[in-house]
Amino acid sequence: MSSEKTPVPPASNFIRGIIDRDLAENKFANKHWAGSPGDAAHQATGPVDTAKIRTRFPPEPNGYLHIGHAKSICLNFGLARDYGGICHLRFDDTNPEKESQEYVDSITEMVHWLDFGWENNGESNLYFASDYFDFMYAAAESLIEHGHAYVDQQTADEMRANRGTLTEAGKDSPYRNLSVAENLAIFRGMRDGKHPDGSMVLRAKIDMASPNINMRDPAIYRIRRAHHHNTGDKWCIYPMYTFAHPIEDALETITHSICTLEFEDQRPFYDWLLERLAEASLLAHPLPHQYEFARLNLTYVVLSKRKLIQLVEEKHVSGWDDPRLPTLAGARRRGYTPEGFRLFADRIGVSKADSWIEYTILEDCMRETLNEAAERRIAVLDPIKLVIDNYPAGQSEDCFAPNHPLKPELGKRTIQLSKELWIEREDFMEEPSKGYFRLFPGNMVRLRYGYVVKCLSCEKDAAGNVTVVHCEYLPDTKSGTPGSDSVKVKGNIHWVSAAHAYAAEVRLYDRLFKEANPGSGDRDFLDDINPNSAQTITAQLELSLQDAKPAETFQFERHGYFVADRKDSTAGKTVFNRTVTLRDAWQK
Ligand code: ATP
Ligand code: MG
Repeated sequence: MSSEKTPVPPASNFIRGIIDRDLAENKFANKHWAGSPGDAAHQATGPVDTAKIRTRFPPEPNGYLHIGHAKSICLNFGLARDYGGICHLRFDDTNPEKESQEYVDSITEMVHWLDFGWENNGESNLYFASDYFDFMYAAAESLIEHGHAYVDQQTADEMRANRGTLTEAGKDSPYRNLSVAENLAIFRGMRDGKHPDGSMVLRAKIDMASPNINMRDPAIYRIRRAHHHNTGDKWCIYPMYTFAHPIEDALETITHSICTLEFEDQRPFYDWLLERLAEASLLAHPLPHQYEFARLNLTYVVLSKRKLIQLVEEKHVSGWDDPRLPTLAGARRRGYTPEGFRLFADRIGVSKADSWIEYTILEDCMRETLNEAAERRIAVLDPIKLVIDNYPAGQSEDCFAPNHPLKPELGKRTIQLSKELWIEREDFMEEPSKGYFRLFPGNMVRLRYGYVVKCLSCEKDAAGNVTVVHCEYLPDTKSGTPGSDSVKVKGNIHWVSAAHAYAAEVRLYDRLFKEANPGSGDRDFLDDINPNSAQTITAQLELSLQDAKPAETFQFERHGYFVADRKDSTAGKTVFNRTVTLRDAWQK
């Protein structure tokens, strides 16, 4: 039997439709790529681009990636892979504050973890937008020279007042008609540190009466004396995001610049800017195009950097990689898989309409991939003793448990059976409820991979809690031996031998928020935190799990999927995190 599957073609979506059309029209047949980002003159020195399309994933290195970013990564890198293209990883680090190397490192690590890369035919397509500051500055001077930009010395309040409203046109700035020479001189003065922070900005000169407020002379450069993690103190002026981003795409000859819907109103400026720079021969056609899709909203989590930072800084969680957080570092530690995220991205697709995706869809994707990948093991999470009264003390014997029911080629492993076992507390009831067919006095069940046993009695502590259950085994019923099924039973329970068990720390995680839309209405999202989202227990596991490798995943039979914690496990003392239960326990 072969476990190979025919690959399922990715579902089509409107972005694929656009790419199909562009390729059919040969839109990029004359697009040159010189092997590195650069202006028109630079790209002209290179051959026609062998990459059919170019996309990019452009994180700002000011926080950790989350599940929403995974959607964008899978989309951009996935499109490049499917169309014979290349996806760039670009750090959008044009904002000097809040950005750091720590974030850069964790972002590259997570993109790799999702199994995407930026090395293509010996070329590393990993870029930093701050490397384009010189070009951006030159582009700004070019706009001034062509009468497309001016320095505005109005105060921030004046600018706001003169911007107008949705129904009312804005008013031209009194500085709008300064000469090119005056503007150039002042702008150079800005660059040279002659003016205080916030005293003036460079603005594009478009149309103060435009119905799109983003086209009413948007600011494109501001004065900000701040140290930059890449360029140090070289600059005291920094480009605005709306100016920087189209230029970054153009210098990298991106064909399809895919972003979230909130940038839709910026698209006219994106196109305006690139056309002006092409007219000035700084850029060449075909120019990049921006396409917007709906960002991922997921129930029971927050996907906002600001809120995630708050959760970490106020210590509602243990850190950026807390297994309950929707950061990719947290999800990885929780045991979520890259395959699961890629499946999730395919399954939810891309659309233009904002919506909320049920968290259970993500969990189902993790279950599906883990069901394939994870070997089976036995764990008793809430242990009580089961004593087989008629089994010789001091004796033990081998039982054989399949490592993966769907993959017989993975074989069986040996587990030990002896007189004293651990079983789940819930697998015994002194007085059974209706339909209960596990252990109760007089009833018979199969010890999975072992014998049929008949329940005799139980012992209790002073508080009335069951501490020990007694049974006797039927010697001719051992699983895998001839005639083992001569005795028919309804119940089949798991167990580990007490003398061969590993008492392990196991962490049971649940949703971090108890509300589907945390913080909706007038609530503070912190008030929606689930107070019972983490529980630590001591479980009895089969001995082999003691030496599980960090990050190894297993299905604990009847319980769910668990991962060896990559941080807190030490040799011979593996700690496990519950990734997800076998079935959804929430949507009842
Ligand atoms: P902010 O801009 O508030 O700092 P951000 O979440 O937009 O946060 P970026 O680093 O700018 O962070 O995001 C990088 C890329 O990931 C962007 O292209 C953005 O569109 C995409 N992205 C971010 N959040 C989501 C989401 N929830 N769903 C899909 N894509 C997302
Ligand atoms: Mg952003």
